[in-house]
Amino acid sequence: MERTLGIIKPDAVSKNVIGKIISIIEENEIKIKAMKMVKLTEEQAKGFYYVHKDKPFFNDLIKFMTSGPVVLMLLEGENVIERWRKIMGVTDPAKADEGTIRKLYGTDIEKNAVHGSDAPETAEYETKYFFNALEVC
Ligand code: ADP
Ligand code: MG
Repeated sequence: MERTLGIIKPDAVSKNVIGKIISIIEENEIKIKAMKMVKLTEEQAKGFYYVHKDKPFFNDLIKFMTSGPVVLMLLEGENVIERWRKIMGVTDPAKADEGTIRKLYGTDIEKNAVHGSDAPETAEYETKYFFNALEVC
């Protein structure tokens, strides 16, 4: 069993597709062990995306991620880090496979509907960044 962090980003929340994305998670035998809807502060978003701080898209990304509420989810399942990334699709929705969440609900390479940790170490950092032990069922 593995754990990863999933986020439904502000574009998907404003498109009213939280339920559709959660359905996809459940259909794929992934368990939601913790979940909350929050509007990130600039400081919280910067801390979360610190690995990208030197990228040219960083400032816009922070603006986007703080533009409205997000849904944070701690996901659990077999091989869930890799499987959730596959279900999401690649970063650019235009290049994502048919049926992936980013293809279905993403807008562009920045506003791409969902987040997923990319490796065991980032999953560990990211799940602990947003959830403490008492919040995990
Ligand atoms: P992923 O979310 O697929 O792991 P990255 O970790 O590379 O992608 O980037 C983090 C987030 O930054 C992306 O999900 C997207 O919202 C944004 N992003 C990535 N690349 C670009 C880009 N070239 N232009 C604008 N935003 C980007
Ligand atoms: Mg990433």
